[in-house]
Amino acid sequence: MNWVDTYKHQGMRRQLIALLREKGIESEEVLAAMLKIPRHLFLDSAFINFAYDDKAFPIGAGQTISQPYTVAFQSSLLELKPGMKVLEVGTGSGYQTLVLTNLGCKVFSIERQKLLHRNSKKILSQMNSTAKTFYGDGYKGLPAFAPFDRVLITCGAPYIPNDLIDQLKVGGIMVIPVGEGDSQTMIRIIKNADGTLEQTEHGAFKFVPMLEDKQSY
Ligand code: SAH
Repeated sequence: MNWVDTYKHQGMRRQLIALLREKGIESEEVLAAMLKIPRHLFLDSAFINFAYDDKAFPIGAGQTISQPYTVAFQSSLLELKPGMKVLEVGTGSGYQTLVLTNLGCKVFSIERQKLLHRNSKKILSQMNSTAKTFYGDGYKGLPAFAPFDRVLITCGAPYIPNDLIDQLKVGGIMVIPVGEGDSQTMIRIIKNADGTLEQTEHGAFKFVPMLEDKQSY
């Protein structure tokens, strides 16, 4: 292990968790997982002093690490249980990926930017994460590993991709921010036994766009 988590970082993290509670996050499991994860190691060192602000930050390749509130909100909507198989679209920094693995899930995460795929793989292995990460197109999902108990999309999707619905188990939950432009609607989808989908809306959020195909730099 060649990373450092100081008392100062731990103190800032406790404050962040208190703030998330104030903002309405109720899942003790999610809050406990986030309390443990050194978010400062997922940011460029230029932003290290802001790592525990409730803000999104640039992580290179024009992308951002999601705001902690958004990570906590999406993770809570998923109603995760240990042992569940989870597909994440948009590994980005790998922070949300580690939240999912720390909740005891078997995580499969796809990223379309090669640079971010490489960087996140490195940091996740330094953190002893069991997540399997893939360089690929999230619109296609990971049919070889399907079906999944949960599917989480961490970029703004213009529509709900059929391939991802197909890869969701019956009774499974998908959380996906949908909409083009500046704002997306957080949508939760439950797949019923007869194949019908139950959709509920959970407010407006801002995400970087979900783009087609792989990007090789
Ligand atoms: N969970 C990440 C969020 C990063 S932002 C974190 O907390 O750091 C969303 C990510 O989705 C970006 O890294 C972006 O490159 C990626 N992305 C966008 N379109 C994608 C697609 N079609 N397939 C996979 N990843 C995609």
